[in-house]
Amino acid sequence: MTVARPDEVRRFNRSSLLRLLHTGGPTTRAALATALGLNRSTIKMLVDGLAEAGLVEERVPRLAGGAGRPSLLVLPQPQAAVVLAVDVRAEHAGIALVGFGGQVLGRNSWNLHGRQREPEEVITHVAESAALLADDLGLRPLSAGVSVPGVVRRADGLVRASENLHWTEVALGQRLGAVLELPVVVGNDAEFGALAEHVRGAGKGASDAVFVSADVGVGGGLIAQGALLRGSAGYLGEIGHMTVRPGGRPCHCGNEGCWETEVGEAALCRALGLPEHGPRGAIVAELRALQDDCDTRLAEYLNWLILGLVNVVNILGPELVVLGDLFTALPDATVAEVGEQVRRRSMVSRALGGVRVEKSRLGADLKLLGAAEAAFAGVLAAL
Ligand SMILES: [Zn+2]
Repeated sequence: MTVARPDEVRRFNRSSLLRLLHTGGPTTRAALATALGLNRSTIKMLVDGLAEAGLVEERVPRLAGGAGRPSLLVLPQPQAAVVLAVDVRAEHAGIALVGFGGQVLGRNSWNLHGRQREPEEVITHVAESAALLADDLGLRPLSAGVSVPGVVRRADGLVRASENLHWTEVALGQRLGAVLELPVVVGNDAEFGALAEHVRGAGKGASDAVFVSADVGVGGGLIAQGALLRGSAGYLGEIGHMTVRPGGRPCHCGNEGCWETEVGEAALCRALGLPEHGPRGAIVAELRALQDDCDTRLAEYLNWLILGLVNVVNILGPELVVLGDLFTALPDATVAEVGEQVRRRSMVSRALGGVRVEKSRLGADLKLLGAAEAAFAGVLAAL
């Protein structure tokens, strides 16, 4: 048995405290002591250290009812540790500086089409925008997280393939790292969506969750036992490419009858009678205009959605499925009905006493927030 040295214990406690404040926001000293199982003098010492480093401030809570001295409120200071978050999509790219505690401190975005979608152009634009934003805010990021719709190698951020961006074998992590002079973590967009939901969204507190998003393609991110599931080398979650319909439509992945061809953006357009590859706004408007009771036009589409979700739940046994991107435009009643059907048809859900199926509530910032969390993982451990 190895015994941890006092400085190792202190470092571990400090980083647990930082993580708690980063995800939970302002918390009283007493609540921090309870959450970490530490006594009040240890918490005081740790918080004093963080205050000295400018990472937190302490304040007397405004409404301190009851007898006795109120426990001081510990507030994370967003500007004290900042990361750069980058979200590259088929149609546009966005960057944000995100502070300790998860607050977006500033942002910028631009459209991508034609030549602007070339890796070199994207890298240059990200670097220039990040420098301008950092100068405007007077902040310097410590690390960067980059969300990409594609298959990404975890170790070095090599984008193996991105159908949406028309990229193959792009050393994005290395090239951005060299230009930004920062540690860079690149990840698949659905993976980072799952991370954002886990830390800040519907998945908070859920130890096992699946995030399924329909953008142009359909992707998945998995939280297993409280952590992001990474697979070997970072490749996993391509649930859009499970075969659901033998003899179905050909898919860009080389297979046919993939789930993505039945529940992706193009399938939704066909179901609604809209032209494929039309503007995203038209699809969302059409979905928002639907009555809350199931529209018959969507009946077959929803059957495919349910069939895929039943498979996913039976294989992975999550307590929660979060639907992201285009799926969030589905009416609430429709999503409730999808959840009912999944619970009824999945053996694992019945054994679990019912898996929850919910829409993402983090909105358009979801991937940016996930990219920020990926960057913060290394930053918080080193502060
Ligand atoms: Zn496919």
